[in-house]
Parts: sequence; structure tokens; C-alpha cells
Amino acid sequence: MATCGSDCCSNGSIFDEKSISCDKTTRVLEGCMPLPIPDDVLKEIVPKAKDFALLHGAGMRYRDRYDADKLEFAPFFLLPSAFPKREFERVVKIQPLINILMHRVAHDHEFLESTLKNTVRVDSFTARLWDIYTTVRKEGVTQGLSLGLVRSDVMLTKCHAGCCELCQTPPYVTAHQVEVNTIASGFGHLGPISGSIHRYVLGELRRPELLHHLPENGALSGLCGGMVSAWKHYKNPKAVILFVIEDITYNICDQRFHEYEIRRQRPDIHVIRRNLTEISQRGTLTNDKRLIIDGDEVAVVYFRAGYEPGQYHTEAEWEARLTIERSKAIKCPSIQYHLAGTKKVQQELARPGMLKRFLSDSEADHVRQLFTGLYTLDRDEEGDKAVKMALESPERFVLKPQREGGGNNVYGKEIKDVLEKIKDSVEREAFILMDRIRPPIQQNYLIRPHMPVSLAEVVSELGIFGAVIGDDKDILLNEYAGHMLRTKLSSVNEGGVAAGLGALDSVFLFD
Ligand code: ADP
Ligand code: MG
Repeated sequence: MATCGSDCCSNGSIFDEKSISCDKTTRVLEGCMPLPIPDDVLKEIVPKAKDFALLHGAGMRYRDRYDADKLEFAPFFLLPSAFPKREFERVVKIQPLINILMHRVAHDHEFLESTLKNTVRVDSFTARLWDIYTTVRKEGVTQGLSLGLVRSDVMLTKCHAGCCELCQTPPYVTAHQVEVNTIASGFGHLGPISGSIHRYVLGELRRPELLHHLPENGALSGLCGGMVSAWKHYKNPKAVILFVIEDITYNICDQRFHEYEIRRQRPDIHVIRRNLTEISQRGTLTNDKRLIIDGDEVAVVYFRAGYEPGQYHTEAEWEARLTIERSKAIKCPSIQYHLAGTKKVQQELARPGMLKRFLSDSEADHVRQLFTGLYTLDRDEEGDKAVKMALESPERFVLKPQREGGGNNVYGKEIKDVLEKIKDSVEREAFILMDRIRPPIQQNYLIRPHMPVSLAEVVSELGIFGAVIGDDKDILLNEYAGHMLRTKLSSVNEGGVAAGLGALDSVFLFD
């Protein structure tokens, strides 16, 4: 075991070091069992695991040859990934504070306005969202309640020696937040079902004594419970829940299981699914602002689309979004919640002292510990400093535009190329800069359709769900609502499962 000799490396019981240079070290996390698994065992277990995944809805539509009559299993890892219990419990405990934070940010007009004023000048998508927000704000509130089904994504990282008490005690890594999603936070079904795959696999591997390391995961019931709760607040037993969907839904299992869970919880609630184009053609508002689609009054609008520019083909889809926002329906998210989830807001919240605008001192301290370095790229002295820093050591950062859905960030050398082009123009204000998190590596078997099984070096990202309902004065519901784990090859920058770069996983807690 090699260590840098500092406090942070003084006890490495769960780690092996790949390098002794502390700043650049990538630690290796031991998995749930010794690897590799013998070939004959693997040969037997992999087909069983694939069948389990398919038969329990861990599926996706074919990406390159879409066929509505066919599914394939979503890529997944054969074994659960090790995650320190202390950090898991810490982020679960903090989630209600994140919910409160996002809810209060969404309802703080001055904060949103001052935070996003530069962004809306240069980023046309955020500007369109801002237009809708200001339009409905001027017209007056028709529905005070919002439903937030948020997901705070974190990765483990090794802190620098002595930076906080967490990095000086086992497990010597801490969870740092990648982002908070306030729109279309997926994997409420695929998260828990990945845990089920792993329970089955550990059972088939005759290791039932390991099962207690896999935590319960009530994501599907928690998120759908949030929608049912919002539906009840609307107080019309005949009204439906509307899922706003993409034109083609590849991640169909995740969405359908939400429908089935709502039906399980409340057989009397009907879910309808429409894309923004259909809503523009068939959605209307009554004089008292009830949203009607194909004869159904809508109580709750759950957006699984509408978070990226490509989902608005023409003005008609923007009109549909405005119609929804003007309506009495309870939105998940409402437009102000959508804005609260922008990367610019995340960066402003990380400013020293800023969290105390929204949380008590001790609450702010807990949330603050999740943050990693975030830097404005606005055209001022502070922004100039960040540009200089990124140009000098681009490998230490991630450059992020105001986009959701994966595949938009800039890494490594490319940061230099992009910044060289925009550093003297207003365009740079459309981005934020963030410290790059370097999570510990572990090994796992990646299982993909039509591909050989491979033992890979991987890193994980944990998503913690929260459900919150409230208005500008009160919060009526505030809960931790389960979790999900996505894992990707350590060699890739981003690992979206739907994009084929990451795979489903679940957590194996260790002390
Ligand atoms: P999006 O809204 O597109 O999901 P994210 O901020 O979540 O944007 O970034 C997408 C992915 O990029 C993350 O899931 C993660 O794999 C990677 N990523 C983002 N920020 C960081 C970071 N600071 N350090 C390391 N990886 C990151
Ligand atoms: Mg993300």
C-alpha cells in the first residue's frame, strides 16, 4: 500500500493506491467480492442475470433501430458497487435540506433574477424559460403549489489532507454533489430494480450473507407517492395526471413503471401521456385556467421532456409549455423550479455564505459540505481568474453550459480550445466552471446486449431522490424518496445509461 504520507492516506484499509502523488491519486475501492469470478460461474450467471433484468422491466427500447414492439435489457453491472455507509447515510439525511433549498430558491424571485440575468442574455434556451416565468408571474399565480421530484447526484472523492473532518476518518472519501436535477429526474424504477437484479445475482452466486449490504430502495413508491399527493391537493377526483413525454421514449420501462405504481397506489387515478406537439394541438385552457386535454382535466403535469432545446421543434411546443404554466394544474416542475435547477444557480449557491439566505446556519453547513469548487465565468475579475485557472490546468475542471440530459459538458484539453475561443466574449457567461471530481475506481462486469461480458474499471454516481410539495409560504411534503446508482467506465467523461455510456448499478454498503 503506497500512501502520500499525509493524514488523508494514513489509513488505507479499504484502498489500494495507484499512485503516491496525493493530488492526482486515483484510489481503488474494493468491491463486494474477490474478482475475477471463474469463467464457468460467469457463463452460468450472466444469462440468468440478463433474463432477470428483462423479465423485471430493466429494459430500454432499441436505440439505433427503434421498434415499439421490442425491448432489450438496459446495460447493467453484474455486481453491486461498494459505497461507504457513512456517506450514503449522510446524503440520505441531507436530502430533505436539499428539497427545502430548491423549493426556497424556486420561490425567491430576487435571487433567480440576479443569478440568471447574465445567463439569459447569452443562453437562448434559459431565456425562453425565463420569458415563460416572467409572463406567468406578471399574469398572476393560478396554482401556488409546485411538486418537486428532485434528484441530487453525487460522486465520491478523496478530499485533500486536512480539508475537513470527514476526509480524516474512515472511509477517507466524501460525497460531493455533481448537480441537482429538478426536471425529468429519471430512474425511479430502474434504480430499485437494479438492486433487485443484484439481490438475485448474489443469491445465485450463493452469497446470501452479503444481502444485508444492499439498502432498501423505495424510489418508485416515493416519487409516485409525491405525484399522488399533489393530485390529492388538486381536489378533483376525475382529473388525470399528464406525463409530458418525448416524441420517442427509449427509456420506456422507467416511465411505464411510474404509471403502474400510480395505478397500484390509487386505482382511480388515470395517467395520460402526450408530447409537447400534441399538447399544443389538443390542450386548452378554460376561463378559470383548468388545463383540458382530449376531454380530460389535468391535475398534475409530470415533465419527462421539455428540458432541452431539441424537444421544442417549433413555436408550437413553446406555446404548449406556456399553456401548461398558465394553468391551474400542479406542475412537476413548475417553471421556477426548472430555473432553480440550472447550473448557474448551482454555482451561485456555492458562493460563501449564500446558503444561509435559504437555510439555518447548521443546515447550510451540512449542505455546504456536499459542494465542490464552482466558479462563475461572468466577465468580471472573479470570472477572469477562473478562466486563467482553467487555461492553466484544464484537467482539474469541467466546463458546463446551461444544459441538461448529458453529453454537453467539456473536459480536459477541450476546455482550453473552447475557452480560447470565447474568453473575450459575452458567450463565456453561458458556462460555469466546476472542479472535476475524481471518484475511486472499482472493478465490475459490464453486461450489454449483444456484447461480450467484460471486467472493467468503473466509477459510480449516486442519485438521491427527494419529493417536495409546497407554495411560496409553506412546505406540505418533504421526503427522501429513494436512490439510484449509475456506473460508467472510468475512462469515459460521462456515462448516461440511455446514451449507452453508463449502466445500471446498485449500492453495496460497507462500514
Ligand atoms: P447533465 O445535466 O447533462 O446531466 P451533469 O452536471 O450531471 O449534467 O453532468 C453530466 C455527467 O458529467 C455527470 O453524470 C458526470 O458523469 C459528469 N460530470 C459532471 N460534473 C462533473 C464533475 N464536476 N466531475 C466529474 N464528472 C462530472
Ligand atoms: Mg446529470
